[in-house]
This record gives sequence, structure tokens and C-alpha cells, in this order.
Amino acid sequence: MKKVTEVAGNNTTDLTEMNRSAIVRILQQKEICSRAEIAKMMGLTQASITKLVGYLIDMGIVSEVGIVKGSGNRRSIGIRLNAEKNLVIGVKFARHVFAIGVFDISGKLYTQSETEFGLDENAGKVLSQMKDQIQKLLDEYSNVVAIGLALPGPYLRKEGRIAMVTRMPSWHNINFIDELKNEFDKPVFIEQDANAGALAEWWFGNHGRPLSSLTYFLVGEGVGSGVVDHDSLLMGNQGIASEVGHISIDYNGLPCECGNKGCLELYCSTMAFLKRAGEELPELFNEKYKNRVEACDRVFEAAREGNEKAKKLVEEIAFYIGLGCVTLINAYDPEIIVIGDSISKGDELILPTVKKIVEERTIPEIHNRVKIEISTLSIDPTLYGAAAIATDRVLRKPSEYLVSN
Ligand SMILES: [Zn+2]
Repeated sequence: MKKVTEVAGNNTTDLTEMNRSAIVRILQQKEICSRAEIAKMMGLTQASITKLVGYLIDMGIVSEVGIVKGSGNRRSIGIRLNAEKNLVIGVKFARHVFAIGVFDISGKLYTQSETEFGLDENAGKVLSQMKDQIQKLLDEYSNVVAIGLALPGPYLRKEGRIAMVTRMPSWHNINFIDELKNEFDKPVFIEQDANAGALAEWWFGNHGRPLSSLTYFLVGEGVGSGVVDHDSLLMGNQGIASEVGHISIDYNGLPCECGNKGCLELYCSTMAFLKRAGEELPELFNEKYKNRVEACDRVFEAAREGNEKAKKLVEEIAFYIGLGCVTLINAYDPEIIVIGDSISKGDELILPTVKKIVEERTIPEIHNRVKIEISTLSIDPTLYGAAAIATDRVLRKPSEYLVSN
């Protein structure tokens, strides 16, 4: 029964499922735990945990493995999540390229591929190529339980449309929910790219638990952020909460396609960075570059080699990223901000300035407790995030989605 009231209650069956979900989410992070450890983490009695784990074992969702040492050297049976039995397909759609990968719910990658396309290419044709590739993987991997799709923001998640795709107007009219909801015999879950990145960091980023609030700051072709607060993605009304790229840092600044002026995205995206680099360091681009990520890398490399102009440019972009972090801290009070996407490859070149700006412009009691890090994920965070979208959803309803065999 669908809940339609604003203050929805939970039936006993919902509560049981929520507890099962909490157990599989703990095991997704901890790999192996005893029943006693799970009981302690969840604040439930061991008798309740034994019953819940018993059901999950019967369903083939978790297994008993060997002996683990508990407190006081007590030995107990270990429980693990059967992650390898539950695969997800992650699909990243971006300007110029879509990528597809098969992962399991622990984040292990099985296969991935990339398909490039032109900005003027027919949207329907690109979409049907994407669908064909997904279907092939479904035929090949029988244990896929869900599909996650990451789209460029701002994505209107109730309508299924991207509100604005810079330089790709034909994609504006595609309704992704209608296109994909009945296409496969597996559920498809869709979120915007920064939310996907936030979920990738949350589930696969090894940031430890307990973790109260994580903000992913995407600084690439676009600028955005995704916030996971107390285990839930911050959505807002239409799913476009935390579009930090369109927060103005100069109300008389450059005009933005969104209608605002001086949007952060105009100062620290790949586009802004390469425009400045083209003006200041044209010699770096005498040789043609493969893509814009590689072009950015050339500037970072020059800065690392001591080129003063390159160092100044990197410093400039780090200043704006720092301003973005100040806004993120004041808006979302995160425990950790993870900076990701192409500009984050500036890594040690940008981080000190970012931290300095945050120290100068936020209250000490706040900034002393916020960790600011560069993403260390080895897989493209948006593609990984697409897998994390599906993982997040299936772990919330283990009885419905996870395989039982
Ligand atoms: Zn804007």
C-alpha cells in the first residue's frame, strides 16, 4: 500500500524490513561481524538479531563464515553479506560519453565500457545504443538485481527530465523514467551525478562508520554537490537540493544559463579553468589534447614542474573551490567534504588553499570538525555512483531485491 499522508506510519512488517536492512548495511561496510556485534551496533537484543539473521540466512542474503573473536576473547560465528550473488549495473550518462559497468553490492567491479558520442548526435539513437548495451549485460550476468543511472544535474527526479544540459538542448525533452521503467525486467533507479558521487563515497569510499553526514563536491565539467545526511540523500522537493554550482559568489558577476549571475560553476568548472589556461598558458595546448580532463592534467603537471603561471591558475581555482566548501559547510554541516571529478586531480596543489580559505571564512568550532579530502576512489565516481544508486536502494529493501538462492 502506497503511503500518501505527510506523516506516514510504519507497519510491523516495515519495521522488520528496516531492521533487516540495517543488518545488511552494517555488513556491507564491516564485511564480517558476529551476531553480538550487530546487536550492540543496532541497540537490539541478541534474541531479535538471531531471528533477523536467521531469516537473512534462509533467504541466502547472508552466510555464516568461520569464527570471529569478540570482546573478552569470546569466540563467535561470523556473518557476512553474500555480495557476489547480488550484482548491479551502473550507467553514467554525461556530455560526449556514456559508461556502463557491472559491480557487486560491495563495490567490486566486474566489467566496464565507454561509448563516445557527439553533442549534435540524435538523443534517441544514443539512448537506444545505451539500452542495447544494458540488455547484453543482463543476458550475460544473471545475478543483476537492479540498474542505477547517473545523469547530469539539475535532474528533475519526479518528472524524469534533465532541467538544463548545457550545449545539449535535444536531451532536455527526454523523459528517462518513461524510457527506462518498462525496458528491462529489473528495477531502474535514477539520480543526478553529484548525488551519485555522494552515494559512491558513502558506500564504497571507506570513510568509516559511524559517519553522520558526507558532502560530495563535484568539480568537473559542471559543479555540484550531493549530501548524504544520516544515511539519506538530501533531495528537496524536486531532487535538485544542493545545486551549489548555481549559488552566486558575485551578484554582479558573469551571467549564467540558469538566469543567475556570478554562479560558482562559472569560476571553478573545467570550462572556466581551461578558458583561463588558454589565455595565460596557450603554449600548453599547442599539441591537440584527447579530452578536457587531459587538458586540465597538463596545467596541473606544469604547476607541479614549477611553472609560475600554472601555479597561479591552480591557486585561483583552489580559492573558488574553497569558497564552495565554505558554503557547503554553512549549508549542510558535513562531517566530511570529499572533492571529486576532474579538477580534484589537482589534489595536493589545491587542498592547502581550500583549507586555508575555509579556516579564514568559517567559525573555528565548525571548521575544526570538518574533514576536507580529495576523493581516492579508483573508479570514475559518477559511474561508481550509478552502481551506488542501485546498491543504496536494494540494501534498503533486502527481502524485495536481494537474491534468495
Ligand atoms: Zn547558474
